[in-house]
Amino acid sequence: MRNDIESILVSKEALNEKTKELARRISQDYEGKELVLIGVLKGGFVFLADLMREITIPVDMDFMSVSSYGDSTKSSGVVRIIKDIDINITNKHVLIVEDLVDTGLTLKHLKELLNTRGPASVKICTALDKPSRRKVEIEVEYEGIEIPDEFVVGYGLDYGGKYRNLPEVCTLSPRIYENR
Ligand code: 5GP
Repeated sequence: MRNDIESILVSKEALNEKTKELARRISQDYEGKELVLIGVLKGGFVFLADLMREITIPVDMDFMSVSSYGDSTKSSGVVRIIKDIDINITNKHVLIVEDLVDTGLTLKHLKELLNTRGPASVKICTALDKPSRRKVEIEVEYEGIEIPDEFVVGYGLDYGGKYRNLPEVCTLSPRIYENR
């Protein structure tokens, strides 16, 4: 797997530091409030697991699964709900936890959907951000590490179902795409 990597864009240490910083802010901002973290599967589960363990106030959590990418490297712009949350979010403060904001289409759609269910608030926390790729305007209250417009894998992000278990955020060697 290591042979497939072209470069490491974000190190384990940088991810860890950013996660701690975001968790500190979240713990302060939501003190005394009922907070629900909603992880976006599959990619968001690694960041959610790290973030949650750095948050020092009580939190509930659940997952949603949406499809927007398949195993291609281009966004279709179509967001399909594959798995919905099981818990009731009425009057709760919801924080959507995502691996990466790219065009913003997925999160815009998710935020709108969750807002129809009577939550006290819906905000967004992301590990990584590609602001140059944005197609829709979306407010990211807890913004992770900014990365350039390159296709990345690792820290939960895949290519064709692989590389999610890499602890860093990496680019892949061009030969991986040629072999498809
Ligand atoms: P958006 O709707 O913002 O365009 O896309 C968000 C989702 O697309 C991310 O959560 C992620 O799953 C996927 N995505 C966007 N950019 C990349 C990338 O560079 N690598 C991988 N593996 N997935 C990406």
